[in-house]
Order: sequence, then structure tokens, then C-alpha cells
Amino acid sequence: MAKIHVLDEHIANQIAAGEVVERPASVVKELLENAVDAGATKIEVAVEEGGLLSIRVKDNGSGIEPDDLETAFYRHATSKITHGRDLFQITSLGFRGEALPSIAAVSKVDVLTATGDDGRGRRIIIEGGKLTSHEDATSPQGTEFIVKELFYNTPARLKYMKTIQTELGHISDVLYRMAMSHPHISFTLRHNANVLLQTLGNGDLLQVVAAIYGTSAAKAMLPIEGENLDYRVSGLISLPEWTRANRGGMSTIVNGRFIRNYGLNQAILKAYHTLLPINRFPLVVIQLEMHPSLVDVNVHPAKLEVRFSKEAELYEFVEATVRGILRQEVLIPQVKKQQ
Ligand code: ADP
Ligand code: MG
Repeated sequence: MAKIHVLDEHIANQIAAGEVVERPASVVKELLENAVDAGATKIEVAVEEGGLLSIRVKDNGSGIEPDDLETAFYRHATSKITHGRDLFQITSLGFRGEALPSIAAVSKVDVLTATGDDGRGRRIIIEGGKLTSHEDATSPQGTEFIVKELFYNTPARLKYMKTIQTELGHISDVLYRMAMSHPHISFTLRHNANVLLQTLGNGDLLQVVAAIYGTSAAKAMLPIEGENLDYRVSGLISLPEWTRANRGGMSTIVNGRFIRNYGLNQAILKAYHTLLPINRFPLVVIQLEMHPSLVDVNVHPAKLEVRFSKEAELYEFVEATVRGILRQEVLIPQVKKQQ
């Protein structure tokens, strides 16, 4: 007798949730990515008890068509890509169509959305992957997600959650990364009744850095800019006097996506070379823009790692640009001082 069968969608979603939804911060990340992809200019996040009790993400983006709302929760349902070849031309933050079904499989989700400003919207409630309510509702244009009681039906995962402060720390990190990647979007983070982050969304990266790292850090930043045929780099780098004890202040962003890339960090550090004290690291926010075919983002479910097709050239370009700015700003004034 045959022993192999295809798992039903509900179990498949719970398995996928294990990969995509590691902790409250992963929910925040996925919902923020969706809000950014929807073209929002204002995104408000409010969490309770480190996100374990509730996570609310409200955006003023495109909204979801009433007829699409249920479909959005199906596995591999996405409006962002259609063909296999699209995978080589990704311009959105999301594309896997996995976040909503995964989140809904392990929490209680309440979504209110409208695509226009006539107040006519739709509301859906899904608990543990099961649809419990679907109705017309009044809503401003945009989408509001409320995710409650994360992991309520997966006690093993819930047990692994750390303290509220730790979970909140991860959520703040997600907000910081998003805000640095999108200075044109206004982000707010609230925990219980406290505002933890507020960015203006006026496009000024320095304001975002000030909101995250403080005004004295912002004062130590130099703007950087450079371009060649393949790449455009911009952002802020700290004067070598302003250092940190770890690499946590080195942020690299590719086409609006915050990424982690060892080679890029090394290129930046090489540019500082002997200017940095030993075991100290700069504060940098490097924004790179390139044709989507030059970067593969389909490497990992969390999309934090990417692969560059012309890695060595990119690293060289970044290193040269950073070094050029540092030479200009640091070495020349020092020579002047000595004269
Ligand atoms: P993906 O982002 O990979 O497409 P998701 O599961 O995160 O997959 O979302 C499924 C779909 O739901 C998206 O493709 C998008 O069409 C829609 N969607 C989700 N969140 C929003 C939002 N905040 N605003 C508008 N549309 C949304
Ligand atoms: Mg998504």
C-alpha cells in the first residue's frame, strides 16, 4: 500500500511558519515589508508585551481588494511575481507569498483594509489558520493587521520566547532597519503606551540616524555618494573618531532591502584601514542601488542574505568610495592642522 501522501495546506503552513515566523519580530518584519511594498508613506507599529500579546501594523498603502483578502492568506499567494523569470528581477521586498499564511497558522489575525478613500473596506479574522469572520467594514485607505497571541497553538515554540525586553529589542531592530532603508516613509513604534521610535519620513537619512543612535552620533556622520555603470552608493559613514565595540552599527541596504553581507562589511572596514582603533567599528548606513538582476534575494526565507553576481567588483567599488570620502574629510583636514 502507498505510504506517501501530500500534507494538507494547514500542516504545510504550520511547517512554513516554523521557518518564517521565529519570534514576534519576524511578524513585524513581514508586515512592514508588505506595507512598504503597498507604497505606504506612513506606517505605525504598536506592540504589547514584546509583541507576544499583540502586534498592530497600520499602513496607508494601496489596501487589499475585498475579493483578494482571503486569497492573500493562501500559501504561495502573491501579487508581486507571476513567472519564474520574475525571480531574477525582484523589485519588491516580498515575493514568496508565505508570510500571511504562516503568521495566520500560529496566531489570531484580524485584518481591516480598503483600497480607496470612500470608507468602504473589508475585515477578515483568521485564527490558527481557520477563517472565522469575513465582512464589509469601514476603513480608511490602507491596511491594518492585528496579530494576537502569537504561538498560542504551538506551545513548544512559545516556550522558547525570551523575556519581553529581548523580544522588544528584536522588534526595535527590525524597525531601525526598515527606517534606515526607507527614509521617505514615516515609521512609529509604540510598546504598550510608550513611543520608542518616530521618524519623519521626509527622506532625510540623517534624521533617521539621529532618531535611532542619538544626535551626537548623527553629528559625527559624513555623507557618501558614488556611482559607476553598475552601482550607485549613498548613505552616511562615521568619522573614525566615532566608533563602536561591535559591527552592529554597520548597516547595508540593497535596493531598499536591509541585508547582512560579510564581504560588504569587510570592504567598508578595509576602507577605514588604520584609521580605526583596534577592535572598534564605525557606524555606517550604506545604501546600494543596482539592477535587480545583479543581486539574488531568493537565498533564504527571511531574505536577509543575498548573493551578488559581481561580488568582487561591488566590494571594490564600495571600498574605493568610502576610502575616497574618508581621505577627503579626514586626512586633508589633519594635514592642514599640522601645517
Ligand atoms: P508576499 O509579500 O511575498 O507577496 P505575503 O503573504 O506577505 O506574500 O502577502 C500576500 C499578498 O497580500 C501580497 O502579495 C499583497 O498582495 C497582499 N498584502 C499583504 N499585506 C498587504 C498590505 N499591507 N497592503 C496591501 N497588500 C498587502
Ligand atoms: Mg510579504
